[in-house]
Amino acid sequence: MDFSFFNSYTSVREKKGAVSGMEKKTAGKGTAFRAIKNNLYIMGFAWRICPLRVASNGIYYGLEQFEYLFFSGFFMKKVLSLIENGGSFQEILAFALITAGLFGAVCLFNGWYVNYLTPVTDVKVYQGLYHALYQKVGNADLSCFEDSDFYNRYMMAMADSDKRLTQTIDNGWHILIGTIAVAVSWVMMFRIDHYVIIFALAPIIGNFVFANALNKLTYRIYEESMIFRRIADYVNRVIHLVDYAKELRMTDIFHVMEKKQEDAKAGITGTMDKYLVKNVLLGWGYLYITFVVIFEGVIFYGACRTMVAKAMPLSDFAVLTTLMTSVSWILIRYTKALLESMKNSLFIQNLRDFLDYEPAIPEDADGIMPDGEIKSLEFRDVGFAYKPGRMTLKHISFTLREKEACALVGYNGAGKSTLVKLLLRFYDPTEGEILLNGVNIKEYNLKAYRGLFAAAFQDGKIFARSIRDNLEMGNGEKEEGCLRDVLSRAGLGPVAEGLPGGMDAVMTREFAPEGVVLSGGQSQKLVAARAFLQDAPVGIFDEPSSALDPIAEHELMENIKKDSAGRILLLISHRLSCVQDMEKIIVLKDGRIAEQGTHGQLMEAGGEYAALYRMQAERYRMEKAFADPQEALAEPLPAGKGGMMG
Ligand code: ATP
Repeated sequence: MDFSFFNSYTSVREKKGAVSGMEKKTAGKGTAFRAIKNNLYIMGFAWRICPLRVASNGIYYGLEQFEYLFFSGFFMKKVLSLIENGGSFQEILAFALITAGLFGAVCLFNGWYVNYLTPVTDVKVYQGLYHALYQKVGNADLSCFEDSDFYNRYMMAMADSDKRLTQTIDNGWHILIGTIAVAVSWVMMFRIDHYVIIFALAPIIGNFVFANALNKLTYRIYEESMIFRRIADYVNRVIHLVDYAKELRMTDIFHVMEKKQEDAKAGITGTMDKYLVKNVLLGWGYLYITFVVIFEGVIFYGACRTMVAKAMPLSDFAVLTTLMTSVSWILIRYTKALLESMKNSLFIQNLRDFLDYEPAIPEDADGIMPDGEIKSLEFRDVGFAYKPGRMTLKHISFTLREKEACALVGYNGAGKSTLVKLLLRFYDPTEGEILLNGVNIKEYNLKAYRGLFAAAFQDGKIFARSIRDNLEMGNGEKEEGCLRDVLSRAGLGPVAEGLPGGMDAVMTREFAPEGVVLSGGQSQKLVAARAFLQDAPVGIFDEPSSALDPIAEHELMENIKKDSAGRILLLISHRLSCVQDMEKIIVLKDGRIAEQGTHGQLMEAGGEYAALYRMQAERYRMEKAFADPQEALAEPLPAGKGGMMG
């Protein structure tokens, strides 16, 4: 069993023959090949989302490069040679008008492409990418969310991934069309002067040697500082989330968090400082060799050839200088695109690894379709560890029969919610197996299997949608009467009656000023109502009443039991008075089943349950005695041999 995303993540990469460290990936002979593969992968990815974005980008760059070369090479030479060879003004005018018309049309296309098509198609491409990423995150194993490495990889995969995607399309075309443009421009220059093209090598050296090293350094700094960025981001997030607002206002915790953020920021700066000298020198080398050498060099060489050696006509010198400027920019952008592609390749690799990640429990896992009738749900010697070597559940064996009502009780941290997570296949057991009607639950179609359960979680969430959506949860529309009925059974009837907007009332004021904010207890009732609405053969209620007042708790518990008359009920509760009429009570202690049976049997046994029950009953008696001494004295103590538990 994989305990973490990292294990499955590594196994996917190992399967593909990838090396384990990102550092190693950046070095070696395979870098260029991997860069090509990664960039082609992204081009293909973008093409599948929006072919128009990819194709129009190619046309745009083709026209742009043509324009550069035409004006700096052909146009200039033609005009100067017309003047030198005694051409008429009308000829020059006609040539200028034809080219103006041609480039007027090109500009129109460019305007449409840049100002309309790009923003529109970018949104489409980004949406396609987000969709793919959401699919992955939404299907990731729950264990991933406890794994720091997962978050690092996820953040790196997400980091500017949208911009990088469109950048990769741009760069891809730049490289392809740039190769043709560079070849054409070199031929043009070569025809004017054989040696001048030596200067054109400067931007290539500047980019390949210095910018390449700079890119690798930037990536290393980014990777080393990722953990600090995440800590800083966490603090940013906490300050504006309503879930944390009360604690932040009532305590000084934010100063503690801010201190953590300052430390994280110091960590980011420290990483930058570590590479300061290297960074500055590489930056200087890149700018100087890429720009200064070529511009100064060509002017100096051309001037020498024209003025000193008298070997180059002035018109050729003029054409050469304009051509040189264009060629420099073509080369600079060309090599920049190449290097950016190599840098992006490192990020794309993260994205690919992330998109290639196969969860241990895929959400779309196919298998046997369970029939709606549940004869038995059996835990057979089940053990589970969140972390290797630390078993949270040990040797759990019990069976739930058709329509049985079972309570799971025990101290905090005994493993009750973990057991539910295994039953719902959020995790798979480390040892043993869980069987539905005698078949291992791994054999079933996961979606259909989970559909057998209506679950109200201990920390059930309310979404910023209407009350209707929060009940239906996307599982199909239900009649208004049905919604009102479950709300009333959960104890929310009167609240629902007075809601502005009825079932369409929005459960937040974040987006709607007239939205509804439920109290903690009301939210818990809504989560229970959600489980009532779902017509499933097993109902799971994990601490459904912890935030309710005693009367509301009693009513809700009664309704849960009534609701579950026709289905299996698994109820987790600390309030033992609520579970004493259940058909089976399982007591968990330190991840093991300490005992199981009916209330009577367990009280008779005088073990953990009896001790807990007596302790709780004693407390209620004292509370009652405080409120009504006469009545309390008349009430007998609960039966059982167990003593008080400390
Ligand atoms: P409570 O009554 O407080 O809700 P519980 O019986 O439901 O407790 P669980 O939530 O199942 O207890 O937790 C059992 C143990 O597993 C605890 O020690 C807890 O710290 C640990 N645990 C729970 N979730 C995780 C997790 N995601 N990763 C690591 N350990 C976990």
